[in-house]
Amino acid sequence: MMSETLPGGGDLVEFGSGKMRTPDHPLIAFIEGDGIGRDIWPATKAVTEAAVERAYEGRRKIVWVEVLAGEKAKERTGSYLPPATLDTLRQVKVGIKGPLTTPVGGGIRSLNVALRQELDLYACVRPVRYYPGVSSPLQHPEQVDMVIYRENTEDVYAGIEWPSGSAEAALLVATLKERLGVSIDPLSGIGIKPISPGASKRLVRRAITYAIEAHRRSVTLVHKGNIQKFTEGAFRDWGYEVASEFKGQVVLEQDLSGPPPEGLVVIKDRIADNMFQQVLLHPGAYDVIATTNLNGDYLSDAIAAEVGGIGLAPGANLSDQAAVFEATHGTAPRHAGKDEANPGSLMLSAAMMLEAMGWTEAAKLLEGALAQSIADGIVTYDLVRPGATKVSTSEFARSMMSRMQNKGVS
Ligand code: NAD
Repeated sequence: MMSETLPGGGDLVEFGSGKMRTPDHPLIAFIEGDGIGRDIWPATKAVTEAAVERAYEGRRKIVWVEVLAGEKAKERTGSYLPPATLDTLRQVKVGIKGPLTTPVGGGIRSLNVALRQELDLYACVRPVRYYPGVSSPLQHPEQVDMVIYRENTEDVYAGIEWPSGSAEAALLVATLKERLGVSIDPLSGIGIKPISPGASKRLVRRAITYAIEAHRRSVTLVHKGNIQKFTEGAFRDWGYEVASEFKGQVVLEQDLSGPPPEGLVVIKDRIADNMFQQVLLHPGAYDVIATTNLNGDYLSDAIAAEVGGIGLAPGANLSDQAAVFEATHGTAPRHAGKDEANPGSLMLSAAMMLEAMGWTEAAKLLEGALAQSIADGIVTYDLVRPGATKVSTSEFARSMMSRMQNKGVS
C-alpha cells in the first residue's frame, strides 16, 4: 500500500535478483544532509535532473521524496532519525543522501551506521578513478581504477562494546577467566568483532558477480588473517569458498603460471597492511576489492586520496532490496552554507544511482560533464591548481549543465 506521505505521480522502483526495475517516473528518496549538505544537494539535484532531461527529453523524470535525518530532522521532529524516515526508505527502496553529523556524546549511534544496519545495506561500494586535471600524489594516478566492496553490517562497527570499568566489561573479564582461562587487564575496555560466514559470503558473492558482469580483471580479498585468524582469516577462507561457486568464470591467482586466460576474473588475496603498500606502489594491479568493514573504511579513504581526495569519491550502500547512494565525505562544517564545497562526490553518487537504475545514458552525461568541467579547469576551492578557475558549488553545477548541452560531451 502506498504511504500517504509519498507524492503522487511517481511509481516505486522494484528489485528482482538484486537488480532494479525502474519505472519512467520513479520515486527516489533524498536526505539533504547536514553542514555542506545544503550546498551540495541542490547542485546535485539540478545536474541530475538536467542529465535525465537531456538524455530522455521528458520521457523519464525522477519524482523526489524528501526524508528527514540529522539536524534538520532533530529541529522538525525532535529525533535525529525519525521512524518515518526508515519507513519511507524501506518503501521507496532507492535513495541518495548528503553527509550527516554524528552527534557527539549521549550514546547516540552514528546515523550512517544506524541507517545501514536498519536497512541491512550490507555492501558499501566505492568506485575510485582518476579524473584528468585533478592533482594527485601519485606519479601515475591514471592507473587508479578500483571498486571497493566493503562489508557494511558487522566487524567492530556492530557497536558491541563496553567502557573500561563498566559492569559489563567486568562481567566479560570474569567470564573469560572462569570459562576460557583467558586473563586480560580487568580495567580493559572491551569491544567485540563478529565476522560471520553469511555476511562475508554475500558481500564477496556480490563483488565477484559485479566483477564478472562489468568485465573487470580481478577481485582481491583484503584481510588481516595472519593475526585475526578466526575473523579476518575466516573472511578470506569464506571468500575463496564463494569463488568456487563461479566455475568457468574465475581463476585463482595461485593456480596461474602466466597471464590469466582472456575473460576470466582473477581471485587473489592480500593482507591488509601489504595492501596499503600495493595500492600506492602498484595501483594498476588492483581492480575490485572485497574486504571487511574496518579495513574497507581505511582503504576507501586512502585510495580516494590517491586521486584527489574524498571530495570526488562516490559511494553506495546496497542490499538485495534497497540502495542508498551517498557522498563519502563528512559535513565539512567550516564550509557549510558558503556555496564553496565540492559537490563532486554527491554528484558522482547520483551518477552511480542512475547507472544502477538502468538510466545509463543519463549517468554517462552527468559523469562526462563533471570530468569535462574539471579538465577545462573549472573547479571548487579544493581542486584549484595553477591555471584553473575557482568557482562556487552552484557555478560548478552550472558549468556542468552548460557542458551537457554541448553534444560533444555525451
Ligand atoms: P569531513 O569529511 O567533513 O572533512 C574532512 C576534510 O575534508 C575537511 O578539511 C573538509 O573541509 C574537507 N571536505 C570534506 N568534504 C568536502 C567537500 N565536499 N568539498 C571540499 N572539502 C571537503 O570529515 P570530519 O571533519 O571528520 O567530519 C565532520 C562531520 O561529518 C562529523 O560529524 C562526522 O561524524 C561526519 N561524517 C559523516 C559522514 C557521512 O555522513 N557519510 C562521513 C564522514 C564524517
